[in-house]
Amino acid sequence: MNNLLKAYIHRMSKVTGTSLNETHYDILEFAYEYYQKNKVGPLYENIKKNTGASKEDIEELFPHGLNSVYTWVGIPIQSLENGCKPFAKIQPDDYREVYLDYNSTTPLRKEVVDFLKEFYSDPNLYGNPSSSSNLGEKSYAKIHEARVELARQLSAAPENIIFTSCGTESNNTAIKGIAFKYYEKKGHIICGKTEHSATLKAVKFLESLGYPATYVGVTSEGIVDPEEIEKSIRKDTILVALMAVNNEIGTVNPIAEVGKICSDRGIPFFVDAVQAYGKMKLRPKEMGISLLSMSGHKIYAPKGVGALYIDDYVSLHPLLHGGEQEFKFRGGTENVASIAAFGLASKLMHQNMERENSRLRGLQKYFIEELKKIEPGIIINGSLEKRLPNNISIGFPGIDSGSLLLSLNQIGVYVSAGSACSAGSLEASHVIKALGVDTNKYGIIRFSFGINTAKEDLDYLFKYLPSILEILRNDS
Ligand code: PLP
Repeated sequence: MNNLLKAYIHRMSKVTGTSLNETHYDILEFAYEYYQKNKVGPLYENIKKNTGASKEDIEELFPHGLNSVYTWVGIPIQSLENGCKPFAKIQPDDYREVYLDYNSTTPLRKEVVDFLKEFYSDPNLYGNPSSSSNLGEKSYAKIHEARVELARQLSAAPENIIFTSCGTESNNTAIKGIAFKYYEKKGHIICGKTEHSATLKAVKFLESLGYPATYVGVTSEGIVDPEEIEKSIRKDTILVALMAVNNEIGTVNPIAEVGKICSDRGIPFFVDAVQAYGKMKLRPKEMGISLLSMSGHKIYAPKGVGALYIDDYVSLHPLLHGGEQEFKFRGGTENVASIAAFGLASKLMHQNMERENSRLRGLQKYFIEELKKIEPGIIINGSLEKRLPNNISIGFPGIDSGSLLLSLNQIGVYVSAGSACSAGSLEASHVIKALGVDTNKYGIIRFSFGINTAKEDLDYLFKYLPSILEILRNDS
């Protein structure tokens, strides 16, 4: 440790009011040397092994725990939700940005950007769609056009589609809307264990109001078994809620089979299709679906717009009371431009669906083959057959997923972590846990592809991934 660094540590101790003892110096010295050698900061386990100081000791000794240790000796850190993580610092000579997180959100596609520019520049498109003036009618027509488009893709009638502000609102409208119809009776609800939080938390909330709920698990392939749903049905079941495609692992549930079980018994069936719409064929009437949610920002439309399919025979209690917009199911003046853009994005998605899916299937295959060459010990989460081609969730053995995510971020590759960390110190994702994956052993990363993903993007990742994994592995 050089004198300049010693002086800096001294200053930090003064600024933060920390009086330094021998253990402080032991920890700082070890962290500094470790970083010099490995180019990555040590995890708690390494510090404990080498200095005897536990995570609790570090948190007591330093004002911001490991964060302070790193910053005081000049180890670069980035904050994550649950604390800081070391990452492998690599400087690519051919730096580029590679977005592999399309399941999280998508960029606007060019056609949608052009459309929105024109829309917002049109002086005649600001009218309130509920007004009967000429201006209002122009806005109303734009919404109607989008409604017709979404309905067409679902082989439904325009009156079956309502617009909302996002997928979360659509899920809540469907689930609570049905439940509140049975407020007195407090009927039973069935939902999947691996649903998105927009479903799980809505059902948990209803449980807190006294609605009994059953959470159905998945097979090790990440798929819900229709028999399990059937077995869970009770005399008082008022709703079955199941996602079409899982957002973390990309697996596809047997929706038509569950739909048949529900329609045979007259039980409303809600399908969260936020990750499925525009990527696979969905026919609510044929599939026994009563309610189906969609979201604009997953298909290259703006954020802040969603939709809900409501079957003719379904009766819902609205969540938002106010005006009589959206067939009285959702009060509030509509986001006309975004709804119209959602209509356009939906049309383009469906026009290119087959071609794009087959292109993505090729990329997915290439991705798996190349990744296995680099890291033969990887696991793929969820069924390989029953999945969409745009998503692949990987377990990296002995790697901390937070550190890998940040290391990839450093080289411009953007992905999501399917579990907070592999070292077991942070909470793992409910989806990965439901598969029975040992999250102490594997760091989970979700790679999701979209219209701008090219083979060169994957090659860029593969160029730097081996060194990143090597650095991180030395660390652990
Ligand atoms: N359902 C699923 C399966 C999702 O993946 C998401 C978003 O990631 C949502 C619901 C919520 O959608 P939104 O972000 O539009 O609220």
